[in-house]
Amino acid sequence: MTQISSFDQQATLYNMAAVSKEQLYSALKKYFGYEAFRPQQEEIITSLLGGKDNLVIMPTGGGKSMCFQLPATLFPKTTLVISPLIALMKDQVDGLKANGIEANYFNSSQTEQEQMRIINSVVSAKTKLLYVAPESLGQLSNIVDAKYISCIAVDEAHCISSWGHDFRPSYQQLGFLKEKLPTIPMIALTATADKTTRQDILEQLKITDAHQSLTSFDRKNISLEVRPADKRITQIIEFVKKKKGESGIIYCLSRKGTEEVAQKLREAGIKVEAYHAGLSSDQRSKVQEDFVYDRLEIVSATVAFGMGIDKSNVRWVIHHNLPKNIEGYYQEIGRAGRDGLPSHALLFHTYADVLQLRKFANGASNEEVQLAKLERMKQFADATSCRRKVLLSYFGELLEKDCGNCDVCRNPPKFIDGSEIAQKVLSTIVRLNQSEPITIVGDVMRGSQNAVIKEKGYHTIKTFGIGKDISYKDWQHYIIQLINQGFIEIAFSEGNALKLTELSQKVLFEDSGVRLTKPTHASDIRPVTKEKKTTTTVSDTNLYDRLKKLRHRVARKEKIPAYLVFSDATLKAIEQARPLNDDDFLKINGVGEHKMEKYGRYFTDEIMDFKREMEERDADPINVTKDLFVRGLTVKEIAAQTELATASVYAHLTQLYKNGEAIDLMQFVTTEELERVKSARESLGSQDDLDAYISHFGSSLPKHKIQVGLAILEQMGS
Ligand code: ADP
Ligand code: ZN
Repeated sequence: MTQISSFDQQATLYNMAAVSKEQLYSALKKYFGYEAFRPQQEEIITSLLGGKDNLVIMPTGGGKSMCFQLPATLFPKTTLVISPLIALMKDQVDGLKANGIEANYFNSSQTEQEQMRIINSVVSAKTKLLYVAPESLGQLSNIVDAKYISCIAVDEAHCISSWGHDFRPSYQQLGFLKEKLPTIPMIALTATADKTTRQDILEQLKITDAHQSLTSFDRKNISLEVRPADKRITQIIEFVKKKKGESGIIYCLSRKGTEEVAQKLREAGIKVEAYHAGLSSDQRSKVQEDFVYDRLEIVSATVAFGMGIDKSNVRWVIHHNLPKNIEGYYQEIGRAGRDGLPSHALLFHTYADVLQLRKFANGASNEEVQLAKLERMKQFADATSCRRKVLLSYFGELLEKDCGNCDVCRNPPKFIDGSEIAQKVLSTIVRLNQSEPITIVGDVMRGSQNAVIKEKGYHTIKTFGIGKDISYKDWQHYIIQLINQGFIEIAFSEGNALKLTELSQKVLFEDSGVRLTKPTHASDIRPVTKEKKTTTTVSDTNLYDRLKKLRHRVARKEKIPAYLVFSDATLKAIEQARPLNDDDFLKINGVGEHKMEKYGRYFTDEIMDFKREMEERDADPINVTKDLFVRGLTVKEIAAQTELATASVYAHLTQLYKNGEAIDLMQFVTTEELERVKSARESLGSQDDLDAYISHFGSSLPKHKIQVGLAILEQMGS
């Protein structure tokens, strides 16, 4: 309890309330509905409440906001939050209000009256959090004062550093805050782990003594996958079709790319919108809003999309092109699965992208840095061991064991003795005078008869066509590996010509071995997410759907995105626990007091209705038949389980079919039998009297086939 007494001292010093561990946890439950802190959150919050400056480095989706939002509920005065984007502020303020926390943002689009009202709510200590962009701080100089402010949070703090990947000049004036309010604790937060950026943040904000916490960058729930980029669009369409009902983002390198991908997906019947800086700001906000409000599931976008979107139920992210660097890649995939549920990151890798990105970097003031970062990105994409290890090592983190949740862990590459392959490639390069790029080397080895080859006379060299037995794609795969292993160098300044290295001499003249991996083809890749056999019954999925629809209705009424009502994870917990009263509802992780009071009734009523309907339903044997049939049992098995006669089971199925249920009756009759029923119906003229048919067919057609046949014919309207 020494901690608390030191709080007491500081509390007087900083005019704060002393906070015990119990109070901390009770606020966490009350406002946010959570039972436990994520790693380091508690330590950071305690330190901040104790008056210390903090620098927090956590991956996107790691839970940074909690580190200042929870303390804000406990500080006596307002917490000032510096944030770069209006969209981001709005989302966070909506989220806070939905949790019953008084919050506002301040910007130049508001009327003077509105601005006055907000300023007053800070002066009267009603507003717990005030969000503002650095540009608007000047207008608030009267309230940026220790009299009114308990804490300052600088979100997306890497924007301060020209080293970071998202520099904003307006952030550089923030140093005055610490000078003006030296006793007010400041917390700076970012997902950029780069050491230089970190130091820059500390110095520019003048918080060099800050308590620093660097949490693990591992986002275990995101499964990682890299695929070769052949037939990308076909692969994407297939992928997306399997993810029906789930939100996802497809990142492309260029504006044109986003439009093209969107167009091709639409042609395949998939609803998608493109998002890029070339659209008007109205168009952009519409796409973003539709996505956030679950009216639009898929967006194909440049990396500008997602900045400032806190949507917690993004289930997958695809990179249509290789990102420039690992920071960017990690931030983008981090937008998936903020709610902690399983999510998927799929990256398409082609050498063409690497060359393109190298070109972009050419001539940039920090060209060397950019190229080095690209190289690391490429290493990740080419990795033949656990990808998460590669990724985390970039952020200076060591993963002890392979992750088991990346494509390499799931489908370990098969190594082969590549000596002969290497020798063929290297001698071709020699015969081409080390002056040609990978495409021509491949063409020569494949014995391609194209114009360039003929023109240059390459069809006459000795190794022309020595690699006919291997596909062009696979040659590329092998050559890239040889580059990665240092057997070949690319002369970027000479039209990307391939050159030999010291190592390659050994292969050519000393016969030293080379290990290569066998290429994988899109068709033989096992899916990363195990397609678990669904064991949930029809009724279970029903409840989740109903809860989702209810959440949607509530969100519409409240004019906030659905995930701010409850996250997918919380909704799943509600589905599992099926609470019928407020007390049980409040026990669910993610349900705080405010939401319990506001929405509890809606949800418990829905569950009550559902239960009642289920009971009524289960009392009707026809529905039991349906459940069993949908689960894949045969008619005989259903009859055995329900102790019904098979005839009754057929009667049930026919009835269900007539009621419009998706029951495939065609499996019970052949087309020939159907034809026979059809002509009988024509000659008998009566459509309902089953007995007439039975005597018509005698023993030549069983009764259930007649029944089934009639139902199908009726449905077909013939
Ligand atoms: P970041 O700002 O680091 O990208 P967020 O603050 O948006 O991440 O948090 C991501 C998600 O994690 C949010 O949905 C948030 O409600 C949730 N979260 C944060 N802290 C906790 C916690 N202690 N327990 C459960 N969920 C949490
Ligand atoms: Zn792995």
